[in-house]
Amino acid sequence: MPISRQKNIEYLKNNPDGWDVIVIGGGATGLGVAVDAASRGYKTVLLEQSDFAKSTSSRSTKLVHGGVRYLAQGDVRLVREALHERGRLARNAPHLVKNQKFIIANYKLWEQPFYSVGMKVYDALAGKLNIGRSKIYSKAKVIDAIPQIKHNKLVGGVMYYDGQFDDSRLAVNLMQTATEYGATLVNYVKVTSVQKKFAKVAGVTVKDEFTGEEFSLRGKAVINATGIFVDQILEMDTKDHQATVRPSQGVHLIVDGSFLGGNDAIMVPKTSDGRVLFCVPWHNKVILGTTDTPLK
Ligand SMILES: Cc1cc2nc3c(=O)[nH]c(=O)nc-3n(C[C@H](O)[C@H](O)[C@H](O)COP(=O)(O)OP(=O)(O)OC[C@H]3O[C@@H](n4cnc5c(N)ncnc54)[C@H](O)[C@@H]3O)c2cc1C
Repeated sequence: MPISRQKNIEYLKNNPDGWDVIVIGGGATGLGVAVDAASRGYKTVLLEQSDFAKSTSSRSTKLVHGGVRYLAQGDVRLVREALHERGRLARNAPHLVKNQKFIIANYKLWEQPFYSVGMKVYDALAGKLNIGRSKIYSKAKVIDAIPQIKHNKLVGGVMYYDGQFDDSRLAVNLMQTATEYGATLVNYVKVTSVQKKFAKVAGVTVKDEFTGEEFSLRGKAVINATGIFVDQILEMDTKDHQATVRPSQGVHLIVDGSFLGGNDAIMVPKTSDGRVLFCVPWHNKVILGTTDTPLK
């Protein structure tokens, strides 16, 4: 179904009855919320100030994962929930998610049983929605899978499965699905303030970023799905709002596919400075990352 921005803008301006749900932010979260709300029959509008999924949602490591790092931190509930969501996404959208083999290379004898048990727990937490069982790999099998791996002192490895997805395709598919369910999605429309009625948020004022025109929308529920910008919207509601997000920055390096020399990915559970690192094949390249550095 084609989405016409101009038609949608006209519809926003000529809608005196207002909306059941106004979603601010057209990243992965906002688009998912729009699908959910529209599919429950709510009259839904989504407002994105820029391109859809341009912000954090286009900068991911392209993994649909349970979060091995959170397992190491002992957050079992979070990992179970993420693994179940991974399974649901793989089941609902097999054209967007593919199984990706990850190898944890072991250079000390204790590492193989340790990580093997860890990944069995990871498998078990996924329950019936698991996408594949982890296995112990011999040294020869690790080298066969990742020819460029450091051979010196390599003992063997543990292979496990996680999902890989294309974040832009997921965003486009969520947009299409929300539209099919009757939601109105508009980009380059920025929320500039919130409207209140009896001290409760009852709508938003927006600016068309192409024409500069401002207009207001009434809504029974306004959902703030603006990711790292969440505090800017909360400040519109409460002037002395205290910031809730502590910013950090992540960096990916993209290198040639020959860096790994195979189709399997590497997961480094602990770098020398204590981070989890992924090396993931992606369109004949390899994504290395991410770093995560606090900004304040
Ligand atoms: C380096 C890195 C790697 C990651 N890798 C993965 C991964 O491999 N797998 C995974 O599942 N997750 C990953 N994540 C996490 C994932 O990317 C985020 O959880 C997700 O993208 C957050 O989406 P969002 O919609 O909440 O936020 P965003 O994508 O930031 O969307 C918020 C949107 O709100 C809009 N907005 C803000 N203010 C306004 C306004 N006033 N009016 C209108 N619109 C507004 C913004 O323009 C933006 O598009 C990664 C994150 C980072 C930083």
